[in-house]
Amino acid sequence: MSDTSDQEQIVAEAKKFAAEEIRPFAADFEEQAAIPKDLIDKMAQKGYLSASFPKEWGGLGLDPVYYGLLTEEIGKACASTRGLITVHTSLVGEAIVRWGSREQKEKWLPLMTSGKKIACFALTEPLVGTDARSVQTTYRKEGAKYIINGSKKWITCGCIADYFLVVAGGEKGIGAFLVEREFGGITTTPIKGLLAGRAAHIAEIEFEDVEVPAENIIGKEGSGFTYVVNTALDHGRYSIAWGGIGIAGEALDNMVTYSRQRSQFGRKLYKHQLIQGIIGDAVTKTHAGRALCLRAGEMRRDGHPDAVMETTIAKYFTSKIAMEITIDAVQVHGGNGCYNRYPVERLFREAKILEIIEGTSQVQQEIISSFGLRRYYRV
Ligand SMILES: Cc1cc2nc3c(=O)[nH]c(=O)nc-3n(C[C@H](O)[C@H](O)[C@H](O)COP(=O)(O)OP(=O)(O)OC[C@H]3O[C@@H](n4cnc5c(N)ncnc54)[C@H](O)[C@@H]3O)c2cc1C
Repeated sequence: MSDTSDQEQIVAEAKKFAAEEIRPFAADFEEQAAIPKDLIDKMAQKGYLSASFPKEWGGLGLDPVYYGLLTEEIGKACASTRGLITVHTSLVGEAIVRWGSREQKEKWLPLMTSGKKIACFALTEPLVGTDARSVQTTYRKEGAKYIINGSKKWITCGCIADYFLVVAGGEKGIGAFLVEREFGGITTTPIKGLLAGRAAHIAEIEFEDVEVPAENIIGKEGSGFTYVVNTALDHGRYSIAWGGIGIAGEALDNMVTYSRQRSQFGRKLYKHQLIQGIIGDAVTKTHAGRALCLRAGEMRRDGHPDAVMETTIAKYFTSKIAMEITIDAVQVHGGNGCYNRYPVERLFREAKILEIIEGTSQVQQEIISSFGLRRYYRV
């Protein structure tokens, strides 16, 4: 792990990088429905595609707190770009770091670090979403290979991915496989007409008799969900928790700035008490959300047994307040808030996605409630 001042510097640089290379172009990325390849290459050179990987595997070695802060900076500038980091680094990369064999790490992580290979996480299917253990994609063992068949949907970066972490069911239960595009039998189709995440190369994917070498299974056949998928989702939720703070913070910046520049009734908007109320709430919620993310990050860093639960709480809360704050940011902008020349219009759409991905808010509520019913039961 890097020392604190190094990590602070990396986050400060990421903030500058986001200001120069990402934020000014976020609307164009959406318009062109793509995160440009040269941006992905630049992020790889900076180490942002492997910021949380240990240095041993070519990563920046950021601890969870600083990795979260870096995610916030990227997510503040562009949610789709943050989405790439969430799936490539947090979901797939961290699952390999945790459950991959030494050979698998040596083979895949340097290529992911350098950006030569982009990874996506393929769990959701056309007929299977929240009930993820019921995946219909199948694997069967044939000699030294697995044969994979099935469809996946809504897969972030699916269109550009070289590696697909595919969750499939078979004789022994659920398995997690690192499927490489070059194996053949994979068709990716871009999903158009999305509310948001339009630049995130989201795909529907068909796997047709894809032959996967046995050495590409991560962990054990049958324990793919309990270990690999749950690890991936936990890291994904942590990243998205910070993504929520990114969107909330960006909406707050825009709301405050606009209220100080536009006048109605001969006064700047912020001079009106009802606008002050909106701003006061947005500041409070953003600070509270960041505090939850920092707490989750510290607990993850320290290996606290409640770290996963605190991450779930942070993800649930920040996606909720990102939605609330972006609604208010649109309100403060009036008609201009409904116009795509103003970032709040996009932020408002991006916030909604966070309440759906990596487990919907209803699922998070159930998990948090079940924890609360145990933790706060007094007899
Ligand atoms: C932009 C975007 C990017 C995505 N990226 C990825 C990706 O990279 N990889 C991937 O695998 N998936 C991805 N997804 C899929 C996402 O994870 C799913 O959409 C999500 O898990 C919900 O599944 P679903 O859409 O099938 O909704 P459903 O499961 O059909 O749920 C519909 C509604 O019913 C509610 N519901 C369902 N079950 C219950 C219950 N037991 N109790 C109460 N309410 C319930 C849900 O909360 C929701 O409100 C992405 C989705 C989007 C929109």
